[in-house]
Amino acid sequence: MNTNAVSFDNTSIAFAYKDDKALRLSHRLFSAMSSPALVNAGTNMVKIAFKLNLPVKGIIRNTVFHQFCGGESIEECENTIKMLATYGIGTILDYAVEGENSEEGFEKSAAEVMRTIERAKDDTSIPFCVFKPTGLASAALLEKIQNHMPLSKAEKSSFEKARARWNAIANKAYALNVKLFIDSEESWYQETIDQMVYELMERYNQEKTIVFNTYQMYRSSMMERLIVAHAKSIEKGFYLGAKLVRGAYMEKERDRAALNGYEDPILPSKNATDQQYNEALRFCIENIDRIEVCSGSHNERSNHYLTELMEIHGIHPADERIFFAQLYGMSDHISFNLAHANYNVVKYLPYGPVKSVLPYLFRRAEENTSIAGQTGRELELIRKERKRRNKVKNLS
Ligand SMILES: Cc1cc2nc3c(=O)[nH]c(=O)nc-3n(C[C@H](O)[C@H](O)[C@H](O)COP(=O)(O)OP(=O)(O)OC[C@H]3O[C@@H](n4cnc5c(N)ncnc54)[C@H](O)[C@@H]3O)c2cc1C
Repeated sequence: MNTNAVSFDNTSIAFAYKDDKALRLSHRLFSAMSSPALVNAGTNMVKIAFKLNLPVKGIIRNTVFHQFCGGESIEECENTIKMLATYGIGTILDYAVEGENSEEGFEKSAAEVMRTIERAKDDTSIPFCVFKPTGLASAALLEKIQNHMPLSKAEKSSFEKARARWNAIANKAYALNVKLFIDSEESWYQETIDQMVYELMERYNQEKTIVFNTYQMYRSSMMERLIVAHAKSIEKGFYLGAKLVRGAYMEKERDRAALNGYEDPILPSKNATDQQYNEALRFCIENIDRIEVCSGSHNERSNHYLTELMEIHGIHPADERIFFAQLYGMSDHISFNLAHANYNVVKYLPYGPVKSVLPYLFRRAEENTSIAGQTGRELELIRKERKRRNKVKNLS
C-alpha cells in the first residue's frame, strides 16, 4: 500500500466548484435518487410526459440533466469545459444521443463526432474525443458479421459506409492530433467492433497513440485478449491505446446467455472482475513503453492501485501515457483529488438534446438508486461537505 496515497476524503477539494446552492441541489437530487420507488415512478412519468408532449423538459434540464450533462450542444458545454480546466481536469465531449438506426441518423452522429474533434484541436482541456459504435453503425448488422452470416447487397453497402465513417473520424483525429476513444458494447457484436478498431489502430497508431479500444474487464476472456492485442501491436509496430472499464451491460449479457443457453461471458463474481481489472492495470503499466492507458472507473481501490503502480514504476503523476477518467456529475471526490495531486484526469461530458439523452439519464438514475452503490457514497460525501461548510460558517 502506498503511504502517500491520494486521499479521496477531501470534500472541500472535491466540491470546490459547487457553491452552496449548487451543492444543495445535488443533495436534493441524490436524496431523491436513493429511493428506487421514486426513480421508477419518475422514469415512467417522464417517458409518458414526453410522449404526451407535456412541458417537462424544463424540470429535467434543471435537475438530472444539469447534474450529469454539459448542455444540449457543444457551445452550451463551454462553461463546464472551462470550469473543469480551472481544476486541471480535461473534458471528453460525449454526444450522448442514442437509438439512431438509419443511415441518415448514423451520418448525423458522425458529423457531430467530427465537430467534437474540431473543437478539441489544439486545446489541452479536451484531450480525447469519443464515439459509441452503435451510434454510427447498426448493431444488428455488426452482429450478423460476427456470426459470419451472409449479407444482402444493401447490408454490404451499409457496412462499407460504416467503415468509411469510422475511418473518416479516425483520420480527422489523426490529422488534428486528437486522441479517440471507441466505447465498447455488447459481446454479441463486440468482436466486429474490435476488428474494425484494430484496423484503425494499425493505420493511425504507427508513430503516436490516436485510437483507443475499450476493454471490459468483467468479460472472462478479457485479460487474454489484452495480452494478444499487446503482442499484435508489437508484431505490427503500432501503439496500443487501451481504455479499461469494468463493463456496463452485465444483466443484459447474463439474461441473453441464459435465454439462449450459451456460457455466461461475464466473470462469476464482482471480486473476480475487480481482480481482473487491477491485473489489466498492472499489465498496462508494466508495458507502458507500448501502451497508453486510460482507467475509466469510479472504484476507489482501482484508482488508488493505479497511483501505486505508477509510484512503484517511478512514473510521474503527469505522465502523458496514463489517464484517469470518470463521468461528469459522479465521483468528484476521485476526479478532483487526483487532479489536485497532479494526475491526468478527464471527465466524460455527455451532451445532446434533452429528449435524446434521456436513456443515458435513466441509466445514471438507475445505477444511482442502490444504497450500497454510488448514491450512498455520493450522498454521504455531499452531506459531509455541507456539514463542513456550515461548521466553517459558524466559526467565522
Ligand atoms: C470514463 C468511463 C467510460 C466508460 N466507458 C464504457 C464503455 O465504453 N463500455 C462499457 O461497457 N462501460 C463503460 N463504462 C462503465 C463501466 O464499464 C462501469 O459500468 C462503471 O464504471 C462501474 O464500474 P466501476 O469500475 O466504476 O466500479 P464498481 O462500481 O466497483 O464496479 C461495478 C462494476 O463491476 C462489475 N460487476 C458488478 N457485479 C458483478 C458481479 N456479480 N460479477 C461480475 N462483475 C460484476 C460490473 O461491470 C459493474 O458495472 C465507462 C465508465 C467510465 C467511468
